[in-house]
Amino acid sequence: MSDDCLFCKIIRGEIPSSKVTESNTALAFRDVNPQAPTHVLVVPRVHVTSLAVATDPAMLGDLMLMAASVARLEGIEESGYRVVANTGPDGGQTVDHLHLHVLGGRHMKWPPG
Ligand code: AMP
Repeated sequence: MSDDCLFCKIIRGEIPSSKVTESNTALAFRDVNPQAPTHVLVVPRVHVTSLAVATDPAMLGDLMLMAASVARLEGIEESGYRVVANTGPDGGQTVDHLHLHVLGGRHMKWPPG
């Protein structure tokens, strides 16, 4: 946990969020600025700054499995979805707590901007 980290505050319940699902190791909640009809963030409960410094395969596996679970819960498993981990400045990361974006409910373009 990091005292001044936005997502740690959400995990601690100090900042409200719209929870989709949770486990002992991860939390999924709706993005406040959705870029698609479904836009959910999946974050580990442990504070890890980004994918670049993540070392725990079990934690990373939990995040990916929760992303797939979110897609099922949101009803986009069949239509398809995208899972994104923006990493570092060129990756467009703005919150320094590892998170997966789960985006769906519309057709995703490629390449991303
Ligand atoms: P990234 O730009 O990949 O670091 O993603 C950070 C995401 O966090 C952005 O999509 C923001 O819209 C989202 N975000 C910022 N503050 C909140 C919040 N309080 N609750 C939910 N999502 C947030």
